[in-house]
Amino acid sequence: MHSIFRAPLLVSLVGLTLAPFTFAANPHGSEPAESHAASTKKSTASPAKDIAEQLRSAVENGDLRKKRLTLVSTGIDKKFATDDAHTAPPIMLAAATVNPQASRNYIRTKAAVMTGYTAPETSSDDHSHSPHWSYEGDGGPQAWGKLKPEFNTCATGKRQSPIHIEDAVTLQGPAEAIQINYQPSNGVVVNNGHTIQVDVSGDNSITVRGSTYKLLQFHFHHPSEERINYKSYSMVAHLVHRNREGQLAVVGVLLDPGVANSLINNVWTYMPLDAGDSVRMPVGLVDLNELLPKDQRYYQFMGSLTTPPCTEGVLWMVLKQAVTLSRDQLKLFGQLFPNNARPVQSVNARAIREAQ
Ligand SMILES: [Zn+2]
Repeated sequence: MHSIFRAPLLVSLVGLTLAPFTFAANPHGSEPAESHAASTKKSTASPAKDIAEQLRSAVENGDLRKKRLTLVSTGIDKKFATDDAHTAPPIMLAAATVNPQASRNYIRTKAAVMTGYTAPETSSDDHSHSPHWSYEGDGGPQAWGKLKPEFNTCATGKRQSPIHIEDAVTLQGPAEAIQINYQPSNGVVVNNGHTIQVDVSGDNSITVRGSTYKLLQFHFHHPSEERINYKSYSMVAHLVHRNREGQLAVVGVLLDPGVANSLINNVWTYMPLDAGDSVRMPVGLVDLNELLPKDQRYYQFMGSLTTPPCTEGVLWMVLKQAVTLSRDQLKLFGQLFPNNARPVQSVNARAIREAQ
């Protein structure tokens, strides 16, 4: 996989065929100022950015539902199959490679979207010859623990996440409610190549087990990483908090198809399609209350980060009641991240408490 990032020019000019649909202007008018400013922040418009903008417009117009979109670059050929893909003519997109560095950057970010794989930007990573972590292939979950010494816990840890939660083996009994204090806040939507993550700034916290944890970020997995009584859900949102001692607490909110979710609508509206890109959302648009179910009973257990370095000591609270997102919302995320869920890990000797 590394080799695809090393050749100086990787994408040939295939040409951009717009027929039979044209990437029409955004039907909602011009892009919101914040979004546009953020998505053009790196430089003046490049071929990659043009394509990203066109893709965004196509997604917003709903054109992708009727067409088959084929992104072509050397070594990577990913089809977004949609409803009537077999009858609709394919649309070929490719980058014109004028500037080799811009081309490499474009390929790096596009490949990351295609593969759930983030190519190295930092010098320390550039000198490593091990594959980078991903959700399939050589860098997939089975290999995480061997990719780097600091990822060892992924293989050797005894309290890894996610897990399969079975009511039959949970500890029953009274436990405290999570005291949740969320309010409309600001956020930056990041496509990090592994997921869509919203870095939140504002006064959001939870209090549980005598400690207050501040909300740092939330992100999504498709399908859900957690399994409950042998059921998987379409997606899960992980709300990541940290207390003053540096301990992490994650609230898991399970998602299944149904009524559209307003917070997800806000996030999806601004989410960058290119890995490594980020967009600042308009002020006050991030309100996590819009994502929470009414019934906030939960399962509580100790676990880990579900991505490398798989650090343990994380307090997990998975809300039992799922919330909904629309099928269109689900489909859009699934096109960017067909599978970004770590398989369930051994429970070992862990206690799982059914709380509240
Ligand atoms: Zn997660």
